[in-house]
Parts: sequence; C-alpha cells; structure tokens
Amino acid sequence: MRNPQFWQVLRSAFVDCVSSRDHSHDFNHYRSELLILRVRLFAVLFGLASPVWIPIDRWLLPAEILGSMMALRVVAGLALLSLGLLPARPALWSARLRAALLVLITLLFYLMVELLTGATYTIPSLIGYTALPLLLVAILALLPLTLIESVVLQLLVGVTVIAIHMWLGELADRGVLGLLWVLLLFIGFSLLAQAFQLHLLLLIHRQATRDSLTGLFNRGALLRHAAVVLEDGKTSGASYAVLMIDLDRFKQINDTYGHLGGDNVLRAVAGVLAREVSADKLPGRFGGEEFLLLMGHTTLAQAMEQAERLRSAIAALVVETDVGPLRVTTSIGVAEGQPGEALEQVVRRADQALYTAKEKGRNLVVS
Ligand code: GH3
Ligand code: MG
Ligand code: MG
Repeated sequence: MRNPQFWQVLRSAFVDCVSSRDHSHDFNHYRSELLILRVRLFAVLFGLASPVWIPIDRWLLPAEILGSMMALRVVAGLALLSLGLLPARPALWSARLRAALLVLITLLFYLMVELLTGATYTIPSLIGYTALPLLLVAILALLPLTLIESVVLQLLVGVTVIAIHMWLGELADRGVLGLLWVLLLFIGFSLLAQAFQLHLLLLIHRQATRDSLTGLFNRGALLRHAAVVLEDGKTSGASYAVLMIDLDRFKQINDTYGHLGGDNVLRAVAGVLAREVSADKLPGRFGGEEFLLLMGHTTLAQAMEQAERLRSAIAALVVETDVGPLRVTTSIGVAEGQPGEALEQVVRRADQALYTAKEKGRNLVVS
C-alpha cells in the first residue's frame, strides 16, 4: 500500500470510531436516540420471548428445575420489558446505561441457567442456552457503539462466560474451549460491524449537517443547535448571543476575481471561524456570504469581544488568487437574547445591528 491517502483515511476512520470525544453535540444526540431505540426494541422482543419459551422448557428440561426456570424466565422477562418500555431522555449516558443493562440482564439469565442445569454445553438439546453469549454479541453488532463502549460490553460477556465455566470446573474441556474460540471470532466480527456502522453514520451525518463549500455547519444544523441552546438557557436562566457576520462588498470580489476566487475567500473566512471559535459554539454558514454564530451562556460584552477578535482576524487574512493576493473585511451585528426569548427576534436585532455597521462604513462590529 504505497498510497498514503489510504492510511490517512483508515486512521481518521479509526479515530472516529474509537470514542465519542471528537463527535459533535448534534451527532451524540442523534446516536443516543438511535441507541436507545434499538436497545428498547431488543429488550421488548426478549422480554416477550422469555415467558413464551416456558412450554419448550417443559419439553427440554428435567422436571426438578422446571419451577426455578419458570420463575427465572418471568423475572428476566419483566426486567427486560421495563427496560424496553420505560421512556428515556436522548442523552449519551442514558443510552450507554441502557445498553449495559440489556447485556447485564441477559448475562445474569445465562449465568442462572448454567448454574441450574450444571452446564448446558454437554446436553445437545440445550445448545440454545449454550449459544446465548454468541447471540448477545451478535445483537451488540447491531448497535451503533464506539469501539471503547463496545469493548467494555464485550469484555463483560467474555469474562462472564469464562467465570461461569471456571466455577463449574470445566474451563479446560474441549467443548468449552471451542465455545470460547467461536465467541472470540464473534466478538471480532461484532467490533468490525460496529466500526463500519458508526463510520457510515458519521459520514452521512456530516454530509447532512455541513455546508459543502466551507465545511461549517449548515443552516439546518444551526437551527437544531439553536433549539438546544435556547432550551438550555431556559433552564439555567443564562443569556445567549447571536453574531451575524457578513462579508463586505463581496459582489465586487466575485466581479473582480470570479466566482471561484469568491469561493476561495468564503473557504478562507470559514477557516478563520473554525479556528477562532470552539466547535461547541457551532459556527455555521447562514447562507451566501453570511455566517452566524450562536453562543450559549454568553453576555453581550463577551459576544462583542469575540466579534471584535473575528473581525480583526478576518481583516488580517490574505487570500492568494490567480490574480494576486486579496484582502476581505466583515461587518458583524451582535445581539443578546434573554432566557426564553425566541431566536427570530434576536436574529432580527443582530441583522439590524449589521445594517448599521454597513451604513457606518463597514469593517465594524455593532450591537
Ligand atoms: P455588502 O458589503 O453590503 O454586504 O455588499 P455585498 O456585495 O457583500 O452584498 P450583496 O448581498 O449585494 O452580495 C452578496 C454576494 O454574494 C452576491 C452573491 O453573488 C454572492 N454569493 C453568494 N453565495 C456565494 C457563493 O457560494 N460563492 C460565491 N462566489 N459568491 C456567492
Ligand atoms: Mg449579505
Ligand atoms: Mg455582504
């Protein structure tokens, strides 16, 4: 593989899949919704299937453990149904907790079955129970987990299987070693399936929420983020600020340097925004040559400072074009929103401030 791009792509895909550290707030929200939905679905399915299996147990299992097995199935079924039916807030911690509970309940059930029957793997008709950890690993493959989250859950499965067979004194049996080998293979494929799944989700999510020219967040993502900031402000009572950033005489730049030259300027300005503003402030392209910054937990004075930093950073920018270097300036309108105030009103005030900045001669910050 001489192609360095191949390794770069592989490396960044791997970093994306390892943990949620570099994922956007928006993506984490989306992933927790997906995770919770799938965990609930599996929990309800297993919760219903658990007691339904009792007649088959009557046929397969010795009479002396039937009573305990029925009780176990009812308890496991109820636990899974509550996990599936209780409503959940779409937050990452809650999604992780739910995935862990699904694994733990299933593992406890498996543990009890092995103890009750005194090892299922020696009895061919009980292969369904022996294979329960494999089924669990296969289900984990269908959840959009990061590699770290998944490794923790898969370790839980692996350690439980090893521990129970150690307890039963049969860890060195060929049948058990075979089971452990197959489990290891399943875990490997499950981790791969999750990484592929997460990588694809991130790719699609980025394409749907980023502006293709500048790589900044697009208008749709901005408005979704706004709903989160506004809700947060309502509960915390903190004010927020809107910066409306408009490039000065951009039409002239297009006329002089061509539209491709203009596009380069937009990309360069977006680069400044991405560099100067932390990602959680979600710098975005509002449309055309206008950018918007929505800052939660920010006072007017703090927002003015940030706007001034941006204005001077953009004024210092030199964009190389086919016909020589080019400079660009911006006018910025700033407005503060009170907790609970609708975004449209604040954007309108920022827009009015922006017009004042244009009237006063441009390359200015006005609130
Ligand atoms: P002002 O200082 O008053 O803001 O003047 P302006 O020329 O920047 O404002 P105006 O709104 O008249 O022009 C904006 C221009 O931005 C018009 C449009 O052709 C250009 N534009 C919008 N989107 C793009 C884009 O994606 N690429 C390029 N190259 N130009 C764009
Ligand atoms: Mg404009
Ligand atoms: Mg303009």
